[in-house]
Amino acid sequence: MEERVPVVVEDVNGLLPLLFGRTRRAIEIRKAWNENRFALVLTPPILDELERVLTYPKVRKNFALDDDDVAQALTILRQNARNFPGLNFTPEELQGALAYAHQRGAKVLLAANTFPPAGATALWKQAIDAGVALGVDAIIVADMGVADYAARTHPGQRLHLSVQAGASSPEAINFHVREFGIARVVLPRILTVAEIKAVHDAIDCEIEAFVFGNIGMMAEGRCSLSNYATGLSTNMDGVCSPAGDVHYDEDAQGNLTTRLGPYVIDCFSCGENAGYPTICKGRYRVAGIADPYYAFEEPVSLNLSGLLPDLMRAGVTALKIEGRQRSRAYVKAVVEAFRTAVDDVLAGRDPALADLLALTEGHRQTQGAFRSKTWR
Ligand code: SF4
Repeated sequence: MEERVPVVVEDVNGLLPLLFGRTRRAIEIRKAWNENRFALVLTPPILDELERVLTYPKVRKNFALDDDDVAQALTILRQNARNFPGLNFTPEELQGALAYAHQRGAKVLLAANTFPPAGATALWKQAIDAGVALGVDAIIVADMGVADYAARTHPGQRLHLSVQAGASSPEAINFHVREFGIARVVLPRILTVAEIKAVHDAIDCEIEAFVFGNIGMMAEGRCSLSNYATGLSTNMDGVCSPAGDVHYDEDAQGNLTTRLGPYVIDCFSCGENAGYPTICKGRYRVAGIADPYYAFEEPVSLNLSGLLPDLMRAGVTALKIEGRQRSRAYVKAVVEAFRTAVDDVLAGRDPALADLLALTEGHRQTQGAFRSKTWR
């Protein structure tokens, strides 16, 4: 794949004509940017300054901008400048990935499951249109407006309801099925297997369930911790603990402090395994407890390999395995283990369950709320 040339933006004054100028030169540069011939690299302070400058009436008048133009430009820049490097892709890259996957009999689902800010839905609509045009097998949506747009504009497109929609009751799920033609729901991790069975018997779509990966705090993407620390959140920006805000500081003794923005998330003594500074997994000083403590959540991964036959009997037909920010080796090991176990169950054999403990966070695993609501 062709490398994009990074262009570092040091000054908002130079960025304005590029984004909004009407001269031939500005239009040509913008065209090159749209064609991904270079990548803009902006720091959060530059983005903040741009946002401030775009409130000036004189600037708006000079470039003939209205609220929608400004909101859309900021959304595009924030989405592309701040999300995890390597997780974004262009429509051309998606096209190549689709061809690669389809040649190998794999399906590709496009996640458009963040929530557009008020007055700036164009980017989400463009993503839906592009996904449909390129032939993705399903689009995962959470926001009702995005779901409505996709269902009305592209009636034949298969839609899945993201866990971020937080639909856990038959009424909520059937509403999305009825109104938007949802074909599959990803259930929140708050239901026991028995409850999943009850939901399955009362709904008109397929069920996908989490089986392996980060277990978070069950806020299902509606968590605001990352937003509090960095201004970016999972549900609005598609990113928790953005890499650009992560800092690792090592002292002379080899002890490591991890920070997210201005906040210390954890301190690791020399030789201790250091985790990525995710706020919900940090150790903090808490009133009434002497030592720093996991105030939100201890580092532990969900692993439902032991419940797999029960889940399948309960009506789960798709398994959700966390892959974002994970290495290819991790994804291969986990998916292969579950594939083998599923094939065993389908063939009537006792599933051969690989030991995935080494791949869990903090080398600890749990079945979370799937076995019992009293797991904490
Ligand atoms: S801070 Fe934790 S619970 Fe919140 S979005 Fe990030 S991983 Fe999820």
